[in-house]
Amino acid sequence: MSDSSLRLVWVYPDLLSTYGDQGNALVVERRARQRGLDVMRIDVRSDQPIPTSGDIYLIGGGEDRPQRLASERLRRDGGLNRAAENGAIIFSVCAGYQILGHEFINDLGEREPGLGLIDVVSTRGEGERCVGDVLADIDPRFGLPQLTGFENHQGITHLGPTARPFARTVIGRGNGTGDGTEGAYNDTVFGTYMHGPVMARNPQIADLLLKLALDVNALPPTDDRWYEALRNERISSASQPA
Ligand code: GLN
Repeated sequence: MSDSSLRLVWVYPDLLSTYGDQGNALVVERRARQRGLDVMRIDVRSDQPIPTSGDIYLIGGGEDRPQRLASERLRRDGGLNRAAENGAIIFSVCAGYQILGHEFINDLGEREPGLGLIDVVSTRGEGERCVGDVLADIDPRFGLPQLTGFENHQGITHLGPTARPFARTVIGRGNGTGDGTEGAYNDTVFGTYMHGPVMARNPQIADLLLKLALDVNALPPTDDRWYEALRNERISSASQPA
């Protein structure tokens, strides 16, 4: 960590917070404070420079046009790439995930370059939009409980040779390639299609980011009964036949 307080950066709330993904910043902040950590939350609008000394960066989903604007501005700014070079933890959702890859299809139907921080390429799915509840098993190396979330995307994300799938779907489409993968990561840069917001439904992911930022293997326990009730409700509803 850069100094005594954890620097939590919420990237472009004006463009990429369409689906309540700002909840992720609230949950990471709260779970850090519950462990007695001092948190400096930095919300960076798209007309402001991205600070490069953050510990954790969060990026949400968005509609196709704001997604293109966000990608253009992030490329021009360069701060997120410098933060990644500094070893920052970056967690992105849906449109944000596609932006962190090499390219995606924008609202004009053109190939839009991303930041190349995750070795993935997103294309536009020809079939039905991927919409619905998702259950997925997270990469076992993280030792985390099952992931639950809600997906809503047209893009299909293909993993390159160096990206690892973040999870494997039990229910839902995930990356949409039909290979059962959901999300991807390279080193400390993560992407997922899970809205919900994902941290509210999966506080284990907020804790994963905190552990990586603090470089520790475990955090003090918290009372997670509310989270568990919500997770169990979503798991049982996602498992019902449509
Ligand atoms: N516009 C992108 C897509 O449809 C991302 C959507 C989202 O962030 N939910 O694939």
